[in-house]
Amino acid sequence: MKTFENIDVKSVKQAVSLLQKLHNEKKNALVVSGGSELLQLMKDRVVTPDYLVNLKTIPGLSYIKEERSGLRIGALTTLTEIEENKAVQEKLLFLSGAAGEAASPQIRNAGTIGGNICQRPFCWYFRLASFNCLRKGGEVCFAVIGDNRYHAILGGGPSYIVHPSDLAPALIALNAQIKIAGPAGEKTIPMEKFFILPQVDARRENILKPGEIVTEVQVPYPRSGSKGFYHKVRERQAWDHAIVSVSTVVQSSGGGVRDARVVLGGVAPIPWRAPKAEAFLRGKKLDDATAQKAGEIALEGAMPMKDNAYKVSLAKSLIQRALLASV
Ligand SMILES: Cc1cc2nc3c(=O)[nH]c(=O)nc-3n(C[C@H](O)[C@H](O)[C@H](O)COP(=O)(O)OP(=O)(O)OC[C@H]3O[C@@H](n4cnc5c(N)ncnc54)[C@H](O)[C@@H]3O)c2cc1C
Repeated sequence: MKTFENIDVKSVKQAVSLLQKLHNEKKNALVVSGGSELLQLMKDRVVTPDYLVNLKTIPGLSYIKEERSGLRIGALTTLTEIEENKAVQEKLLFLSGAAGEAASPQIRNAGTIGGNICQRPFCWYFRLASFNCLRKGGEVCFAVIGDNRYHAILGGGPSYIVHPSDLAPALIALNAQIKIAGPAGEKTIPMEKFFILPQVDARRENILKPGEIVTEVQVPYPRSGSKGFYHKVRERQAWDHAIVSVSTVVQSSGGGVRDARVVLGGVAPIPWRAPKAEAFLRGKKLDDATAQKAGEIALEGAMPMKDNAYKVSLAKSLIQRALLASV
């Protein structure tokens, strides 16, 4: 691992101004929370920061607070804390389950919600320092001609990574917001606007600018009559990322669908919402035929590569299964 300096910060304000100062001085600095993902990237020399700004030493950034309209989750809250929290279990449909499906118990004990959402891709070409891929400033996405069995079928090009977080698609299905602190102050935006496609920038996964950090995730309580479904398909039962995951929230009234949110994981460089399928579902009675059609609509435009066409049918069936579980 390259030598670096660790700086423990004591407040969000200090973290932001330090990050901004280091950026202005053209120093290579990254933030670290649990370190469960970042330190491996550093050991493998995929990233080689000169400074780590350690957020873990900020007091009061790990919490789950119940408000009237929803839960507020501090960025340093661990995945285990989210999984085990009673209010999350009782009020947020599948969020506890999604947290419990991520990584391994050891990683969930250290890994935070902020780090989970901001984790870098788990593409094998990105993770090997010897491949200077597009995402690391190179010219090529090696998945295009290489082994692309786990890569994107939707939203890809010029890079074909898939978004790795299990929590992010679940949170988008739950209509979560994300709070960001930065040199210009604080802002709260819908979580689905946080992630960016490679067409926008193939070297970044989210909108964070230098000096900005995630401080909180806000999740509203689902509206009455809502049912949720989360399922993750992975290759192994030990820790593994999603090959495809689905998160759905369906609000029904009078025997029909009033509103639906359908979000896929593991299929695109960002958590992939399916707005056309959602629109199709509104006002419909959920049965085999509508659930199947919604799956087909959601996968319209999928462009599988040579090794990953299996994801298309998998994603369609998962959507169908999720919707039928909401009847
Ligand atoms: C072997 C392995 C298997 C895994 N499997 C899964 C899986 O199946 N599903 C899944 O969802 N995840 C999986 N993960 C990822 C895991 O969930 C993350 O490692 C963890 O959640 C990251 O949290 P952290 O606090 O340790 O982040 P760190 O390692 O500290 O940071 C991760 C990244 O986020 C940035 N960051 C951290 N906190 C903030 C913040 N507050 N604001 C802005 N940027 C920030 C860092 O700069 C870094 O780029 C796996 C990881 C490993 C190592």
